[in-house]
Amino acid sequence: MRRPTTLAIALVMVTMTDSLGTASAQNPADFPIHSMTRPQPRVVDPGPYPGMQKPPSDAVVLFDGRSLDAWQSADSAGQPARWKVADGYMEVVAKTGNIATKRGFGDVQLHVEWMAPVPAKGEGQERGNSGVFLMGIYEVQVLDSYQNPTYADGTAAAIYGQYPPLVNANRAPGEWQTYDILFRRPHFDASGKVTRPARMTILFNGILVQDDVALTGPTAHKQRPPYAKHADRLPLILQDHGDPVRFRNVWLRELPELSS
Ligand code: MG
Repeated sequence: MRRPTTLAIALVMVTMTDSLGTASAQNPADFPIHSMTRPQPRVVDPGPYPGMQKPPSDAVVLFDGRSLDAWQSADSAGQPARWKVADGYMEVVAKTGNIATKRGFGDVQLHVEWMAPVPAKGEGQERGNSGVFLMGIYEVQVLDSYQNPTYADGTAAAIYGQYPPLVNANRAPGEWQTYDILFRRPHFDASGKVTRPARMTILFNGILVQDDVALTGPTAHKQRPPYAKHADRLPLILQDHGDPVRFRNVWLRELPELSS
């Protein structure tokens, strides 16, 4: 009896390793940016939205469903954020521009809920596109990636242009989805050289999609620029990509810095 059991366990382990064997696909240096031949993330159904969780007691609440007081225009500091607020959510208003938190942040645990518009319109990058930019520089892609293939490093929960998500855990458009992001800012020496890259871990609808990856530098379209020294704290930015994506229950916890 023992032997088959051991064999069965071994086989299960082999299978698991196989199905999770995406690590080699996760080195940005192995793929040109936005490569259409980079493997697509496997689809995983995350199950239904579990209901909105209240922010923890030590959270900095950035959007509680009522006002954009914590935000301003990202393009013209001091000007109000001009996105729509209704029924407990904010919604991108095309051509009003990105919005930025008034405060800056460094290392954070960030919770964001978002919803792609229904009916779904457009294909690829033109469907429910927005973005969450840590420090205004490092984008976690927001995209309606439900039955909507695009280049892997531009899928929802990709670190844009660098790391596709480990799996595609999208819910359908019109359903709330959650990002829980652990972000460690980059560190620089006095000469401006990066001494510790930015790192991110992301749960998408409760599913691990980025596992402590080291960013190659700022995220950008069609390029992977090198790090450029910046402040220790910078505003969080949400992207106006022209699509009426909604956000709610946006909060973060400021984390103590890692000892170097
Ligand atoms: Mg985007």
